[in-house]
Amino acid sequence: MSDKTSYHMPVDEFRQRGYALIDWIADYFQHVESMPVLSRVEPGEIRAMLPPSAPQHGESFETILSDIDRIILPGITHWQSPNWFAFFPANSSEPSILGELLSAGLGVQGMLWATSPACTELETQVLDWLVDMLGLPADFKSNSAGGGVIQDTASSATLAAVLAGRERATQFQSNANGCDGKLVAYCSTQAHSSIDKAIKIAGIGINNLRKIEIDDTFAMQPMALVSAIEQDIADGLVPCFVNANVGSTSSNAIDPAEHIGQICRRFNIWLHVDAAMSGSAAICPEFRLFLNKGLEYADSYCFNPHKWLFTNFDCDVFYVRDRQALIDTFTLMPEYLRNKATESGAVIDYRDWHIQLGRRFRALKLWFVIRHYGIEGLQFHIRQHIRLAQIFADWIRASQDFEIVVEPPLNLVCFRHLGGDAKNQKIMDKLNADGHIYLTHTRLNNQLVLRMSIGQTKTEERHVRRAWELIQEAAQDI
Ligand SMILES: *Cc1c(COP(=O)(O)O)cnc(C)c1O
Repeated sequence: MSDKTSYHMPVDEFRQRGYALIDWIADYFQHVESMPVLSRVEPGEIRAMLPPSAPQHGESFETILSDIDRIILPGITHWQSPNWFAFFPANSSEPSILGELLSAGLGVQGMLWATSPACTELETQVLDWLVDMLGLPADFKSNSAGGGVIQDTASSATLAAVLAGRERATQFQSNANGCDGKLVAYCSTQAHSSIDKAIKIAGIGINNLRKIEIDDTFAMQPMALVSAIEQDIADGLVPCFVNANVGSTSSNAIDPAEHIGQICRRFNIWLHVDAAMSGSAAICPEFRLFLNKGLEYADSYCFNPHKWLFTNFDCDVFYVRDRQALIDTFTLMPEYLRNKATESGAVIDYRDWHIQLGRRFRALKLWFVIRHYGIEGLQFHIRQHIRLAQIFADWIRASQDFEIVVEPPLNLVCFRHLGGDAKNQKIMDKLNADGHIYLTHTRLNNQLVLRMSIGQTKTEERHVRRAWELIQEAAQDI
C-alpha cells in the first residue's frame, strides 16, 4: 500500500512490485507462443472494461497488475510471439528490456551533453561501434566530419534527412525564407510512406515528390531517375533529395545505391539510404556486398535496431556524412540552454541532431543488447532468420499450388497461391482468425501477395515449419 502521508510507493514495496513485474514478463515470454497472435477484441471492447473516470483514491499495485491480465492482455497483438510473421518484426530481448528499465530508472533527459554526459557519450561510442560492426563507411564515425544519433523511428530519421537536404540545396535559406515551391525530391514507387510524410512535413509538397519507375526486382531504375532530374532542372526546379531503399517494406527490394549515389553526386543532391529493416543484416559480412554497396555516396543512412536487432521499440540509428549540415538545419540557442560545455565546442549536444529538444537514454538498451549477445550472437540470430526464410522459399518452390513472386534476398518471402487474389485473401484471413500465426500482404504487379517476414527474436525452424503446414491446410480448407 502507498505511504499515506506522502502517497509515494515506499522503496521496499517498489522492490517487491518490481520483482513481481519482471516475473510477470518472464512468464509472458514463456507463454506467448501459445496465445492467438492477433488480438481478437472488437473496437471499443478494451475501453468498455475501463472505468469512466480516474480513481480519486490510489489503488494497490496488486489490483493494477491484475488488470493487466484482465483488461490489457486481451487487447494485445503479440509482436513478441515466435509465430509473428506479419509486417516487419518489432523485436525485443531480455537485455534490451533491462536496459529500457534502467533508462526509466535513471530518468535522464539528455538534450545537452551537460544534462547527462554519459547519455551522450555512450550513444556516440555505441554508434561508432556499429559503424565497424556493420561495415559502414568510416565517414559516419564521430571522429570524421560525420556522426550518428539515435532517433525514435526511421520516419524521424528520414524527416531529418529531408530537412537537411532541403537546407543544403537552398544555402540554408529556406529555414529563414520558407520554401519557394521549387524544391523537388525523388524516391522509387516502392519507397516507404514515411518518405511521402517527410516531404509533406518539410513543406516540399507531395506534388514535388517524383516516384521513379522500378525494374522487375522492384528496384529503382537509375536512368529514369536521371531523366526526371534533368526534366525538373529544365523546368527551373531545384532537386534537393533522393531516397534509396535498401530493403523495401513491400518486397525487400534493394535500389542500386551506387549508381543512384553517382547521380546524386553529379547533380549535388542529398542521398538518404533507408535500410530500416534490412540494415541489421550487414552485421554478417557475407551480406554487406549488396547491402552496403554505394553507401560511400550516401549523405545519410538509417536502420532500425527496433526491427531486427533485438532492441525494443523505439530505436532507430541515423548517420550523416556531414554533421554540420544537420546541425545547421536544426540549431537554435535560447538563453536558457546556454552552458559552458556547449560553448567550449568540445561536446556533442544531440538536441541539434533531431526534431525534438528532449531525448531518452536509448543507447543503454542498445549497449546492453550488443554486450549481451556480442557480435557473434547477433550474427547467429540474423543468419538463422535468413536461413529459415530461404528454407521456406524452397518449400514454396517445390509446391504445386504456390509460387514465389520475387526472389527473397534476405528474410522476407513474397509468395502467393496460384488460385488468384480472392483465394489468397481467404487463406490469409483464415490463418489470422485462427490465430496460430499472423501474416500480412502487399500488392506487387497488381496482384495480392502474401508476405512471410521472419525476424522475431525467438522464431525457430519449428515455428516456420508449422506455419507452412498451416498455410497449406488453410489453402485446402477453403
Ligand atoms: C518500417 C520501415 C520504415 C518506418 O519505420 P518507423 O521506424 O516505424 O518509422 C521506413 N522505411 C522502411 C523501409 C521500413 O521498412
